[in-house]
Amino acid sequence: MNTKARNPKLAGNILTLPKYSLGTGDRFAHQAKAQLQACLLAAQQGVEVIPVWNKSNREHTIIGSEPASVRAAADAAVKELGWNKPYFCDADHITLQTVDRFLAPCDFYTIDVAEMIGQPAPADAIEAFVSKHPELLGKIELSGIDESFTITAEDLRSTASKFLAAVKQAGEVYRKIAAAKGEGRFIPEISMDETDRAQSPVELLIILVAIADEGIPIQTIAPKFSGRFNKGVDYVGDVAQFEREMQLDVAAIAYAVKHYGLPANLKLSVHSGSDKFSIYPAIHRTMKKFDCGVHLKTAGTTWLEEIIGLAEAGGEALAFAKDVYADAFAHRDELCGPYATVIDIEPAKLPSPETVRSWTSEQYTSALRHVQSNPAYNASFRQLLHVGFKIAAKKGRRYLDLLEANEPVVARNVTENLYDRHIAPVFLGRAASTI
Ligand SMILES: [Zn+2]
Repeated sequence: MNTKARNPKLAGNILTLPKYSLGTGDRFAHQAKAQLQACLLAAQQGVEVIPVWNKSNREHTIIGSEPASVRAAADAAVKELGWNKPYFCDADHITLQTVDRFLAPCDFYTIDVAEMIGQPAPADAIEAFVSKHPELLGKIELSGIDESFTITAEDLRSTASKFLAAVKQAGEVYRKIAAAKGEGRFIPEISMDETDRAQSPVELLIILVAIADEGIPIQTIAPKFSGRFNKGVDYVGDVAQFEREMQLDVAAIAYAVKHYGLPANLKLSVHSGSDKFSIYPAIHRTMKKFDCGVHLKTAGTTWLEEIIGLAEAGGEALAFAKDVYADAFAHRDELCGPYATVIDIEPAKLPSPETVRSWTSEQYTSALRHVQSNPAYNASFRQLLHVGFKIAAKKGRRYLDLLEANEPVVARNVTENLYDRHIAPVFLGRAASTI
């Protein structure tokens, strides 16, 4: 048994992520208040959902922003709305190479080790892990679920050889952050979602044991689930299988917390890519069944709500939204490239820029807004705009001026989307009114 991950010296003085938390992205640093408003609505319903503002190095690079701007926007929103509960700024998907500029402004680190998955760990490290953990061999009874895991020495060895190098790398990143900020002064998460194959619940347990051995007190872990988690559109996969897998993952986490000294609040982080409406009821049921928390990362939709708000505003703002689409259409190959594994655009379904040019506010927002029951909703149109934020970034001040001039309509869309389509179904267990 390993107790290294729980450091008794830090007891009572550890920055802790509450049970329910929502990761939200604010690419242009203009919507923190509207996003926080959604958490306030949840609080009014008696459910505490903690906001975590996340922005990856890739987004900062594309937009040309600095991590400190996320912190400044979050702090200002919290002050203005009088939010008196915790909130965090997440250095999303950082690595050893990219973490530096996130060290001062962030207090949540999503340590991405996906690239190291499958890299060979030294043979002696694998053998040391296998011989250190004979207790994992055989049958493992999980509580709260009728299934058990059966692990063979071969399972242990093959999982260790696939993931040990990634866990060691996570340890290096963790220690670099801890050296700069102090242990217990930030929330560590490990993410393994941006890889090609889902991790099974058995693999998750073995990975958690390795993480405990490495002494990383993670509070959230983001595995890759089965099914497709494309950007900004609904889940594609077997919902029943997702639910079963999520329940086993939760049971594996509880087992690892109990037996390997990982933090008691350790929970799943669902890197949803936003808008996985069809699995939201399953996530809610799982949280109720196991009385566990979840971190739901929804990055990216806020930018689309900004465009929806501008289109809804009409006039110059609608014309701008049409320009953004025309430019995104012209540069679609270049925009989609970095996101190729997480989008499925059907080129034939993309309207021509000329067609869009003739649209009313209503036509534009109906195509873009994620209301699947609306026959005008167009998932390809939505996905192209989702990855098209670089176009708005290039338009610079003009875009920000329009956001500011149309703040009420933009903010209403941002808040409504986050609360009604995400927070209500996941954390309150209510069907969204507009899906
Ligand atoms: Zn992710």
